[in-house]
Amino acid sequence: MLRDGVFDRRRQRLVDKMRENGINDERVLAAIGSVHRHRFVEGAFRPRAYEDEALPIGMKQTISQPFTVAYQTMLLNPRPGDRILEIGTGSGYQAAVLCEMGARVFSIERHRPLLARTRSILESLGYRVVLRAGDGTLGWAAQAPFDGIVVTAGASEAPEALLQQLRIEGEDDKPAGRLVIPVGDHRAQTMNLYRRLGEDDYERTASRNFKFVPLIGKQGGL
Ligand code: SAM
Repeated sequence: MLRDGVFDRRRQRLVDKMRENGINDERVLAAIGSVHRHRFVEGAFRPRAYEDEALPIGMKQTISQPFTVAYQTMLLNPRPGDRILEIGTGSGYQAAVLCEMGARVFSIERHRPLLARTRSILESLGYRVVLRAGDGTLGWAAQAPFDGIVVTAGASEAPEALLQQLRIEGEDDKPAGRLVIPVGDHRAQTMNLYRRLGEDDYERTASRNFKFVPLIGKQGGL
């Protein structure tokens, strides 16, 4: 079994690699440097936990590649106290990164058995995340508005329900709510950042391409 010191050194090397690859938000890098990714994967995959790669977590799903998590988090730009909704809890790693940055995190996962396992991992590590099983493409209206929503599965389009649950710029003197979502087809998706400027007024910025497992649900599924 690998000792904690080995994981600590590997985690630091992963942070260095993220920086070399263009992640320049120190708060994101500090969170990646704090979360014990090896605790979010099963035993056989632990030796690879600090490689920059996606790994299987069961039910044909994956823990996202660290670069992808760092990139999405950088676009989301969560501030301490922000209400953030994650669609696709998966292993819980992205949720833990958001907690480390001081966000109040809500997360929805469609696979109940995965959610049960992840709930106990997050609790055992002291991360407080409000979790729910269900179709995240419909969002979580009772908890809206959100300062940020991050979708960690590939969509065909941005679900209207998620756009409508973003905070409008200026509401409560706060910045515009952000939706970070990969949009495309089964082969590749482009990362999109939406900012809600008014009731039906959104600014959209598209950046680089990724490949996610598909979002499956009523709105924007692949
Ligand atoms: N954020 C995760 C992590 O840190 O490990 C990565 C999750 S994985 C790439 C994507 C997850 O989205 C899967 O667990 C999948 O079951 C989930 N998913 C897909 N469609 C969904 C939907 N409509 N609602 C909720 N979860 C969904």
